[in-house]
Amino acid sequence: TSATRSPHPEMTHVPGTDRDQAVSELKFRDPVRARALIEALGRRTAELGRAPVSVMHVCGSHEQAIAKFGIRSTFPGGLNVIMGPGCPVCITDTPEVDEGVVLARQGVHIATYGDMVRVPGTSMSLADAQAEGAKIHVIYSAPQAVELARSTSDQVVFFATGFETTAVATAAVVLGGLPPNLSILSAHKYIPPVMEIVAEMPGTRVEGFLAAGHAATITGSAVFEPFVARHRLPVVVAGFEPLDILAGLVKLVELIRDRTPQVVNMFPRCVTRDGNLRAQEQLWRVFRPTGGRWRGIAHVPNGNLRLRDEFRSIDARRRFTIDLASLWDHAPSALTQSCICGDIMAGLSSPTDCTLFGQECTPEKPVGACMVSNEGACKIWHQYGGHPDLGGDA
Ligand code: SF4
Repeated sequence: TSATRSPHPEMTHVPGTDRDQAVSELKFRDPVRARALIEALGRRTAELGRAPVSVMHVCGSHEQAIAKFGIRSTFPGGLNVIMGPGCPVCITDTPEVDEGVVLARQGVHIATYGDMVRVPGTSMSLADAQAEGAKIHVIYSAPQAVELARSTSDQVVFFATGFETTAVATAAVVLGGLPPNLSILSAHKYIPPVMEIVAEMPGTRVEGFLAAGHAATITGSAVFEPFVARHRLPVVVAGFEPLDILAGLVKLVELIRDRTPQVVNMFPRCVTRDGNLRAQEQLWRVFRPTGGRWRGIAHVPNGNLRLRDEFRSIDARRRFTIDLASLWDHAPSALTQSCICGDIMAGLSSPTDCTLFGQECTPEKPVGACMVSNEGACKIWHQYGGHPDLGGDA
């Protein structure tokens, strides 16, 4: 393992033999190191000597870890850690869900990842369509869509969602050759362009980004360098264990304090500067980036991944006629219009700012997409008891 590399001094300062140290360095939940990092985070934030500093992570897995391990309650009062548009289910736009619903109601089998099934479309979700008799299949990996298609002579559509982490898996099965009855409805998204949108958003408070380690494993940390050069905002790549997140935040606040915007890789046991070149080659051989809407955010230039023309024969949008007007006669409900999921993903609001949070909107009866997905900020905050207020600095 490469765990002997340590991205931050506080992660390795516990004394011991070489062997003890190697073993202890695998303890990414070690309370002694966590306490040292928490203290370092408090000191660095205080050294800023000014009003609260806001940083954003763009990853539902980061928010899950922060909530699950109670890390938010350890943040110093001057540090505001915001969850951005990092939930792939949440940012899948309503018309994209509608496309899946229309195809499902035409009798096509739809294979998709679990959380997508309950995400509201304009008038219904895939789960609603299933209740009417549509054939919806929850899968856990792209190859399962291939297996499903091989098990039937009916048409199967893989409603492919998620960021570059899942898009590379879709690309791999496409390049492996699909059964003739399988096509792809791509709603894949690409993270780096949406960071530009957030950075340029009027009223944004974000002074630095914590980038998701799993996506950077594919893209490499260098993908963020043009962003940093353009916006003069630091980006720190971090993993998902408590010590990864704390060490990443310490480094991020240091970069803000020192006014040294740069990309720092704090997840070197998985991420390299160039990333996984073979996966990138497959990704861009199959997909092209194009502008499109992200739910609640805006039009994101180059934020959507669509199949290249040479794969038109397996593109569900070309194989089938998708008549969205048949769904759009139905206006969204008043409750859906009250959802502030978009503001939450843009970092402008928190789940508890929503008047429906925990009342009309719960994981059992979600109103908006942020309450559906395990990576959605509202679902995570609801699951772990909302925003902890422990009365000031930890
Ligand atoms: Fe939308 Fe529900 Fe979150 Fe409110 S609590 S923003 S309605 S998902």
